[in-house]
Amino acid sequence: MAPFKAGFVSILGRPNVGKSTLFNTLLGDKMAIVSAKPQTTRNRILGIKNVEQAQVVFLDTPGIHDGQSRLHQRMVSVAVGTGQDADVLLFLVEAVFPSIEGDRKVIDSMEKNHGVPFLVINKIDLVRKDKLLPMIDQYQHLHAFQEILPVSALTGEGIDRLVDLLIQYLPESAPLFPEEMITDQTERFLVSEFIREKVIQQTHQEIPYSAAVVIESFKEQPEKNLVVIRATILVERDSQKKILIGKGGQKLKAIGEAARKEVEAFLDKRVFLELWVTVEKGWTHNVRALDRFGYSSR
Ligand code: GDP
Ligand code: MG
Repeated sequence: MAPFKAGFVSILGRPNVGKSTLFNTLLGDKMAIVSAKPQTTRNRILGIKNVEQAQVVFLDTPGIHDGQSRLHQRMVSVAVGTGQDADVLLFLVEAVFPSIEGDRKVIDSMEKNHGVPFLVINKIDLVRKDKLLPMIDQYQHLHAFQEILPVSALTGEGIDRLVDLLIQYLPESAPLFPEEMITDQTERFLVSEFIREKVIQQTHQEIPYSAAVVIESFKEQPEKNLVVIRATILVERDSQKKILIGKGGQKLKAIGEAARKEVEAFLDKRVFLELWVTVEKGWTHNVRALDRFGYSSR
């Protein structure tokens, strides 16, 4: 029998190339926040794929960009991959609007990383196949990629092949994480991401990406197939709180309903979701607050 393999796989790339979508398709469930707006994946999200003879730990990273706040600095340090070096780097680009210059920056940032570099060309469902060869040629001049694969994270085309191939490059190892532990830890976090996604979708530009969601309590009632969740949306200003609540509480109600539907589908349980809004001034600059909300780089 083939030896068991386990390792880390980082997904890197410019905003909007489809990192979160690929992550979701690879994991087979809606695991990371996906949005048409760039840079909404703020934290590093870890997803574990257990197959018969391997455990693959995928890291979805936020975009690499500049910024001044502590939150930004942490995002960047997470994006560049502090701590754990990945065994395989999936460098994701897109076939529709390729940007060699933008991609070059991300490639430069991964020079320090020792993982095996793959070039993954996404969104091939949107282009004619004869556009791909010249693209591959251009990227080959940028970096010595070990493997080059065209995929569509949306339709799933090429994904099975990608998984088979990257397992070949993982080291022989026992599983890195026990399955149950991870599902427990990530569930709350993912629910908070669903809520935050709805906040951003339903308030457009008015509530900045700095809004945070804290899950205050998460109580399962298995006999009723019900989960009672109490969450607080954290904003920085009173004016933002007003927008979020809306006239007669309409906005918050709409956000809560949309989030509840999604969480119910994800958990496959009935959900009672109670949402609160709190103003905590300057929390993105406050390290203690960052730790409390799980943005520590530990
Ligand atoms: P990220 O910023 O790199 O994480 O990108 P997202 O995963 O949030 O995707 C950005 C946008 O591209 C979303 O609207 C996705 O639906 C879309 N998208 C991602 N992958 C594909 C794909 O393979 N085909 C098509 N047509 N759209 C895609
Ligand atoms: Mg993303």
